[in-house]
Amino acid sequence: MPHDDLALGVDIGGTKIALALVDRKGEVLAEGRLPTQSSDGQVAVLDRIAQGITELLEQADRPVGGIGIGCPGYIDPHQGIVQQAVNLNWHNVPLRDELAQRLNGKLPIWLHKDADAATLGEFYVGAAQGCPDFINIAIGTGLGMGALVNGQLIVGSGFCGMEIGHISLHPADGRLCNCGQRGCIEMYVSGPGLLAGVEERRSEYPNSPLAMLDPVSTEDVLTAAERQDPLASRVIQDAVEHLTWVVTASIGMLNPARIVLGGGLGLALADTLIPALEAEFKRRTLPITHRNLQIVPSQVQSSAVGAAALVWHYAGK
Ligand SMILES: [Zn+2]
Repeated sequence: MPHDDLALGVDIGGTKIALALVDRKGEVLAEGRLPTQSSDGQVAVLDRIAQGITELLEQADRPVGGIGIGCPGYIDPHQGIVQQAVNLNWHNVPLRDELAQRLNGKLPIWLHKDADAATLGEFYVGAAQGCPDFINIAIGTGLGMGALVNGQLIVGSGFCGMEIGHISLHPADGRLCNCGQRGCIEMYVSGPGLLAGVEERRSEYPNSPLAMLDPVSTEDVLTAAERQDPLASRVIQDAVEHLTWVVTASIGMLNPARIVLGGGLGLALADTLIPALEAEFKRRTLPITHRNLQIVPSQVQSSAVGAAALVWHYAGK
């Protein structure tokens, strides 16, 4: 693919679909946003995505090298199939071929899980440029991770590589996760995790202003943390402790040169999390395993730009 060709990225989320036409520097030339409305049914959503892609392609002022799609859930990137996406209520949807058919097969399409797309976005135009061994951690409504090792995405034998969020560290008595297990890391390091922590620890901090709020939002926890609220601080300390486990295990297994921390909540807490994690991994891992390691905030704001990076990864060499 010629270097100045454009890439079209599509990020399918539970509530909205973001599309962007992006140049090789990551500049967005045109973008679109559609409601997902998965309750309309799979065919309607596929038709809507194809229509959005067609409209964006009409705005391209030069050739487009391909389409990259990021999707939540369990994805088979080789076959282009969404095996399971709970938020979309999709099971075994041949997304790549369905879209190729609607677009008359004019452009190559690559599909990956959204965390992988975000990881490639950081590598090509974000905080991990020039760094072929790094880990991307996105903290938001869930805990998403991706990793590049020697420039290759970790995909896994069943496409579940880097699925660390639902490893349980407290199977007997941890916070109940909606996957059915107790003590999943995601229940300590995510928006729902912080809120579950407030419920769990509310009675321990009767003088905390946050403890007196009901219901509590993630924003409330962040605001309270800025005011040194003891309950908020404790819940964030729980998050640091669990994230430390993720970071140190990743250092031991993959020896990354960089860890990129992003997601809405990850960026909001970056000033707290990054120094805390740096102090902990220096304390808990051997110096030789982290001598090159930096933890940095993510730089790619748009999930559609991350999806476009799939095109650069697979066609752009
Ligand atoms: Zn879980």
